Amino acid sequence: MTMERSLAAFSFALLASLASAVVLLVQAQQNPGFISIDCGAPNQYTEEYYNIAYATDEGFIDSGENMQVSSEVIYTYYQQYSKNLRSFPTGTRNCYTLRPDRGKNVTYLIRATFWYGNYDGKNQTPTFDLYIDVNYWATVSSPNYFYEEITYVSQADDIQVCLVNTGNGVPFISALELRPLDDDISPSGLGFLQLHWRYDIGLSSKSPKRYLDDVYDRIWEATNNNLWIILNTTSAIDLSVNDDAYKYKIPGEVLRTAQRSMNASSPLKFAWSSIITKKWIVYFYFVEIERLTSGQQREFTISNDDNQFRETVSLEYLKPVVVVSTPVNGGNITFSIESTNKSGKPPILNAVEFYTIGDLSNVPTAQDDVKAINDIKAMYHIKRESWQGDPCVPSKYTWDGLTCSYGNPPRIILVKLSSSNLTGEIVSSFLLLSTMEYLDLSNNQLTGAIPETLAELQNLRILNLSGNNLIGSVPEALKKRVLDNTLIMSLIGNANLYQANPCPQKKKPKKILIPVVTSILGFFLVLFGALAIIWLIKRKRIPESSERTLRSKNRSFKYGEVSRITGNFGRVIGEGGFGKVYLGTLDNGTLVAVKMLSESSKQGYKEFHAEAQLLMIVHHGNLVSLLGYCDDSRHMALIYEYMANGNLRQHLLVKMHLPEDHLKVLTWNKRLRIAVDVAQGLDYLHNGCKPPIIHRDLKTANILLNEDFRAKIADFGLSRAFASENHSYVSTCPAGTPGYLDPEFQSFGNLNKKSDVYSFGIVLFELITGQRATMRSQDGGLSMHILQWLIPIIESGDLQRIMDPRLQGEFDINSAWKVVEIAMSCTKPMAIQRPDINQVLIELKESLVSEARGSPEMTSLELHSGSAPLAR
Ligand code: ATP
Repeated sequence: MTMERSLAAFSFALLASLASAVVLLVQAQQNPGFISIDCGAPNQYTEEYYNIAYATDEGFIDSGENMQVSSEVIYTYYQQYSKNLRSFPTGTRNCYTLRPDRGKNVTYLIRATFWYGNYDGKNQTPTFDLYIDVNYWATVSSPNYFYEEITYVSQADDIQVCLVNTGNGVPFISALELRPLDDDISPSGLGFLQLHWRYDIGLSSKSPKRYLDDVYDRIWEATNNNLWIILNTTSAIDLSVNDDAYKYKIPGEVLRTAQRSMNASSPLKFAWSSIITKKWIVYFYFVEIERLTSGQQREFTISNDDNQFRETVSLEYLKPVVVVSTPVNGGNITFSIESTNKSGKPPILNAVEFYTIGDLSNVPTAQDDVKAINDIKAMYHIKRESWQGDPCVPSKYTWDGLTCSYGNPPRIILVKLSSSNLTGEIVSSFLLLSTMEYLDLSNNQLTGAIPETLAELQNLRILNLSGNNLIGSVPEALKKRVLDNTLIMSLIGNANLYQANPCPQKKKPKKILIPVVTSILGFFLVLFGALAIIWLIKRKRIPESSERTLRSKNRSFKYGEVSRITGNFGRVIGEGGFGKVYLGTLDNGTLVAVKMLSESSKQGYKEFHAEAQLLMIVHHGNLVSLLGYCDDSRHMALIYEYMANGNLRQHLLVKMHLPEDHLKVLTWNKRLRIAVDVAQGLDYLHNGCKPPIIHRDLKTANILLNEDFRAKIADFGLSRAFASENHSYVSTCPAGTPGYLDPEFQSFGNLNKKSDVYSFGIVLFELITGQRATMRSQDGGLSMHILQWLIPIIESGDLQRIMDPRLQGEFDINSAWKVVEIAMSCTKPMAIQRPDINQVLIELKESLVSEARGSPEMTSLELHSGSAPLAR
């Protein structure tokens, strides 16, 4: 804990002797409402001295390993639960799930105990964070036995206690305990209360009191001030009539002892310096345990030194009074208990607790979503390291495969469970994810029928069920949504699924094998290649007419078809030099981008044809695939695979107005992957094509990103095939975009592969800095080239100054330097000085690998996936 509670007084040695001396008369019994887990224990057992039944971790957590403290220290301490522990060498966040009988909106005491005890033989105390549900609770870092305790009002039926690996050692825990409390025991409207000290004052024995003396199992540590006078009584404290006593259930044992000051003129004082900015709350417990002569009454004022709190109390014999301070803060805090003038008796104190208020600012994911995704996890036996705790919050621990929106409350909007070995039917829990926009269950072994009710998910835009064993027919309601353009659905690879022909003129549904590769958002990186394979496999079973349709549908479109698949050009997703780009949906559900050549654009006509011709022959996982075209003399359209995340430029220029905007920023790792993807695409054009192809207009606006933020190069409108590898192409027509243009080409019209390498270098600098290729000078006036700004700073060795501030320092410095060096070599003024793109690619891959080694963000490297050029 931040202000570490010293538990020296918590003497286990003494407990050990007490335990062996006391004959327990109380039989082991249920502790009502208690959850007591001895983390890492091999068996459940009842702790005899306190008569508390401890369970093992089973059923509370799936991850972690059972360990024992070192044999060198094990006999020093008595408590059974301190000897075992559970450590979590894998996973960033590991969570215990507690499900108390009394459910949510109940106040609970939650205590997590830790004793490192050199269990791993490394003698290195780890430091890690503790979370209560979605909120930070404490940082754990101590070699000694200690515990963290809070008073917490549960917000859901389940309470999660999570250990978060912050990169400073393996998290572990020795015990976890939950006790239900009376609901009004803690002040409402505040966060949770985090205990710092709890003292039973005036106790002569050093042993702490807890259960069974304390029905809530609070641990009352004995403490005395040598300058104060000890008082005690054997009389029974009046615990029944007084409201306070009843509510707080302070054990009579604790209240029967007290201390008072020497005389009426000296106060009882508590002073401490607070290094934390949190507010403090102090609970004072008083009972008059001295029989005063008649007419005498003890009266005193409890106050805080800067008068943030003040209250006067008069005591009656054996009647407890509880005073809860208002929250106070400050660097040095002092509370005084001073006799009033009329009292004449010294002030007294029987017990006291010091808490700080914990922050509950993180809002958990909507409970329906949490329940649904947990049911899905349970029903499909999904075991993923990150699938612990809240699915969306904190956002840096969002479950792998989920994407959430961060409103109030956060909601799940994307579920990607492709290739996850899911078996059985599509469970109804998916229907509870009412804000879900994207559901990908492809490539599993799902069986049974497709639930028609999926169509009721109003927000669902993309449903990918391909590659399963689903049976029956496709529900009408889903088909209707596909035809209405409100849903993109992929069903390919479900051999026993019946699908009615969507053509309206055919009345009878006819069994057809789904003939077209359904490329949802770039799942198939090389669409035609994959189509060819599937088509070959299935061609024997496809009727002649379907085969013809298939071929024609993927090449040449009639204008009427283009109009239909775009919903009569209903949704514009971009606009470029040719004209508008529309979102469309093929009959099989594939989402496409339809680039229309505007009738006014004459110059575009040639480029349109250039692009169409080129893309017909060039296919690579990092080049945007052309799926078809329309050219009926009046209307021209190119139909591409849809890239769900648009162009790279818009992602690099994201504005940072709100804290959550940070989530929209491309991480360093994503930027590196994008750089590798683009280099792979370019390498294919330069070195994989004969003759080589120069793109001529490579820029961030022409780099498109799919739903996984993998990049593909687009816009071949200006591209030209080379005559030969060794000869440069001398261009007479203007091409390219200012800022990206090779200086040699600008001066001499001399165009070669290295012109693209130069443009690529500029793209790299945009990825590094988040700046535009042509940027405003620092005084906001004239525009300047990015290199003019960058080079002097790089030469001064000040990398931090050029890194995109939106990254908020989250990047691997070595890989960043490496990419800067690569970008510098690509942007050398003379073409001959620049490396070939294949050399650039090798170096970029190296920096991605080195970044991945130091980065928890990436679990696997797929440098080659989807990147190999496909022979056609
Ligand atoms: P110019 O034609 O002047 O070079 P441009 O490259 O931006 O400009 P287009 O290729 O017509 O022009 O694209 C315009 C915008 O449409 C892109 O920036 C992108 O946001 C969107 N777009 C284009 N193709 C796709 C696609 N396949 N998937 C998704 N969005 C696309």
